[in-house]
Amino acid sequence: MRSPADYVSARAHGVDASGIRKVFDLAAKMKDPINLSIGLPDFDVPELAKQAAKEAIQTGHNRYTQTQGIAPLRERLRKDLSAEFGHDVGDVLITSGVSGGLFLAILATVNPGDEAIFLDPYFVMYKHLLTMAGGKAVPVNGYPDFRFRADRVEAAITPKSKLLILNSPSNPTGVVMTQDEVNAAVALAKKHDLLIISDEIYEPFFYSQPATGNSQLPSAAKTYDRTIILRGFSKSHAMTGWRLGYAAGPEPIISQMTKLQQYTYVCAPSPLQSAAVAALDIDMSKAVGAYRTKRDIAFDTLSKKFEVVKPEGAFYIFPKAPAGQTASAFVERAIANNVLIIPGNVFSEQDSHFRISYATTDEKLRQGCEILNSLA
Ligand code: PMP
Repeated sequence: MRSPADYVSARAHGVDASGIRKVFDLAAKMKDPINLSIGLPDFDVPELAKQAAKEAIQTGHNRYTQTQGIAPLRERLRKDLSAEFGHDVGDVLITSGVSGGLFLAILATVNPGDEAIFLDPYFVMYKHLLTMAGGKAVPVNGYPDFRFRADRVEAAITPKSKLLILNSPSNPTGVVMTQDEVNAAVALAKKHDLLIISDEIYEPFFYSQPATGNSQLPSAAKTYDRTIILRGFSKSHAMTGWRLGYAAGPEPIISQMTKLQQYTYVCAPSPLQSAAVAALDIDMSKAVGAYRTKRDIAFDTLSKKFEVVKPEGAFYIFPKAPAGQTASAFVERAIANNVLIIPGNVFSEQDSHFRISYATTDEKLRQGCEILNSLA
């Protein structure tokens, strides 16, 4: 007779979440920690968006929408993205968060054994989604400065390579790809016939661009039409629980993602799609400015004691653990001192750095960074 555990698939077993679980177990024992671990903004959903969501519910936007999402939102996003990139972006699919877009993009393109290349350190989900799809994750060493190096990436390309996943601004390093780096990535993709998946969920959090409201983020989508662009509302509007993202790119791929969405997520949350149309007109530049200040606090404090790359985007910073210590050992010490951070081996093949999310109050951030400095 099978025990309940015997029903679990090899696919599920193939996903290893032990690193992050260990941190959560340790965190559960902490009382009122200085929490520098969370990947979500500390501001609330803008009032206007909340009102729009309430109104959408009250006025009956509570049923399934079309699988691809509501027309006003898709059309608006297609128009905005096309203006930003200087050409038509192709089709747009509203997804259940960028996670939903990532899952569908990988499911729609990866055959068993196909390889997907991305920089290490990486956003955790890439590896696990590829495993689930039967593909092979190929992380490419990005240490010590987390920059895109075409020679290293090219050395990882094989006849099975199919995807190049870019994430700029990056989680967990905060690094933003330069235009030259994006050009180099596109040149490689062209040369080796790769599809680029460009995860730009942190697009508004790019601190060296002027606050004009027009994105200056270098993106492969500008020059390479075989790019699936993924963006969303979770971080930009502090709506992580609303589960709203979008994918744009070549119609033959977006239409397959749409078909797969039909039999998985069905559609993104209906009233919240309506509210997202209103959210697009909210000026979030103040929030971004506040995050720039937090970036400065984190970098200026931590760089006194740690080897650390100055982040230019997102809300993470990824310092190196003090000499002679693994990141995991250092994180345990930090947690023993009431500061919750994540060891780099959750996002990497190596255990040398740790991730701080500076999405917290300036005061808590200062306190947390000072404690970490005292442990270094
Ligand atoms: N990509 C990156 C790089 C992320 O950091 C996150 C969230 N932490 C996601 C995608 C997924 O975001 P969501 O599904 O909440 O839109």
